[in-house]
Amino acid sequence: MLEEAGVTQPDDIDLDRLAEAEGAEIVYDDLDGATASVMRIGAFARIRISNRITDLGAQRFTGAHEIGHLRLNHEVPLGNTNEVIERICKPLEKSRKAPERAASIFASEIVMPESLVRRYCAVPYITLAPAREIASDFATSLLASAMRITEITTERCAVAYSVLGRVKWIKRSATFPDWIPHGRRVDPTSAVADYYERGKLDPATRMLAVEAWLPRQRVDGTNVQIVEQSAAIPELGVVFTMLWIPNRELSHLDLAA
Ligand SMILES: [Zn+2]
Repeated sequence: MLEEAGVTQPDDIDLDRLAEAEGAEIVYDDLDGATASVMRIGAFARIRISNRITDLGAQRFTGAHEIGHLRLNHEVPLGNTNEVIERICKPLEKSRKAPERAASIFASEIVMPESLVRRYCAVPYITLAPAREIASDFATSLLASAMRITEITTERCAVAYSVLGRVKWIKRSATFPDWIPHGRRVDPTSAVADYYERGKLDPATRMLAVEAWLPRQRVDGTNVQIVEQSAAIPELGVVFTMLWIPNRELSHLDLAA
C-alpha cells in the first residue's frame, strides 16, 4: 500500500490520502464510547475517529487501524440512509480478537514502516533518544515509537510499562530475555521507583546492575549491566522505560556523551 502511494519518506505518510486510495474518507466526530468506527456506504467507506482523541500520534494510529480493516477485507458493515451500522473499534486498547490485532499491526506498519524506521534503530545506544526522533519525524507517540524499536532492532531491549511502581507489561525485542514477571515491584535503584515514591521522574539515562530488572543468571554473557531511560504519562500514573542490555561493557561516560 505504501509503495502504491509512492511513500519514500515520513512526510509522505498522509493518512487522508491513503484512506482515499481505499475509497474512504476520514472524519472526526462525536463517538459514544468508541475510539473509531468504519462503515461502507455503497462503493465508499467512512472512517470516523472520536474527536475526544486530541493526540496526533493516537489519531494517526487510529486512522491507519481503520484503513487496515478495509485493506485487509475485514467485515465492515454496509450502512444505509435509515440506519448507521458500523464496525466499532477501540484500537488504543489491547484486544484478543484476531481482526483487531491484525488491523493494529497493519497500522503500526503504515505509520512507522520498517523500511523507513530501520535507520533510526541503528544507533550505538538504545535509549529513548531514537524513539524521540521517530516520534518527531513520523508524528507518533513516544510509547508507540519505543515499542516499534523493540520490533525492529536486533539489540537486547524492551519497553516496560509500569503502574504504581509495578510492571504491568513488557514488550521485548526478539533477543531480550523473557524473565520479568508481570506485577513485579520495580527495583529501588530504578527511576520508576523514584517516580512512584516522590512523583518526580528523573528523565536521565541510568546504568544499573542487571538484577534491578532481571535475575542475573538469565542474562547470557559476561556483561551484567542494564541501561534504562523512562518517561511518564502523568495523567495515567504510568511510567514506561526503555531497557537495554548492551552486548559490550559501557561506562557512564559513554551514555552521558
Ligand atoms: Zn478495529
